[in-house]
Amino acid sequence: MRAITVRALPALDDNYIYLLRGPNEEECALVDPSQAAPILEELRRHPGRLVAIYLTHHHHDHLGGLKELLERLGPVPVHGSRVDQARIPEISVPLEDGDRISFAGEEGQAWLVPGHTRGHLAYHFPRSGHLFSGDTLFGAGCGRLFEGSAEQMHRSLQRLAGLPDETRIWCGHEYTRANLRFARTVDPDNAELAEREKRWAPPTVPLEMGLEKRTNPFLRCAEPALQRATGKCAPVEVFAELRQRKDRFS
Ligand SMILES: [Zn+2]
Repeated sequence: MRAITVRALPALDDNYIYLLRGPNEEECALVDPSQAAPILEELRRHPGRLVAIYLTHHHHDHLGGLKELLERLGPVPVHGSRVDQARIPEISVPLEDGDRISFAGEEGQAWLVPGHTRGHLAYHFPRSGHLFSGDTLFGAGCGRLFEGSAEQMHRSLQRLAGLPDETRIWCGHEYTRANLRFARTVDPDNAELAEREKRWAPPTVPLEMGLEKRTNPFLRCAEPALQRATGKCAPVEVFAELRQRKDRFS
């Protein structure tokens, strides 16, 4: 059984806030509080003691509710990237790559996965098998390169793809449908991808790492099919070409 349970709270247009609960349901934690209202509503319906907030990166749609939450609920340790400390003054627990975190008796780890932003963190809880990937890895896609290079993002994604197939991925946005449409254009002969697009239904979180490895083109840059589609050979070049095409895709 998974010790930590996760509830996805839709916020803004297509963001997800994640509310984590420990095995006794009393302790809870948040990943990326985009807005305060859905969190306060959830805690009103199912009370819990908020013991930690984890931030993946500094974009406003991921932490817009932070100030109000801290005002309403009192001080809660706010975990975030040391790289982002200057631009997120609320961070009280600055984290570096590989730093241990602990929630409800379970050990987790923060990973620095630059590419979307330079301080972007992912949070992994290996015992429960949860990965909070923020705007790095999406369903059938990946985040845009705002502050990083294709090489950095490719390396970050490859690192996440090293996790076990049964890992459950909780990503920052519900972008899966649009991503699948793009994925089909670059990997048209992938039967499992075609099937995934046909069966698509929201919410698509949690994503399953095994399925992402088999159908997400941004994790498949070493596959001949993607090399053919992009006309590139080295995986990082395949990745860069895919990312540029996706930026232009509508
Ligand atoms: Zn972002």
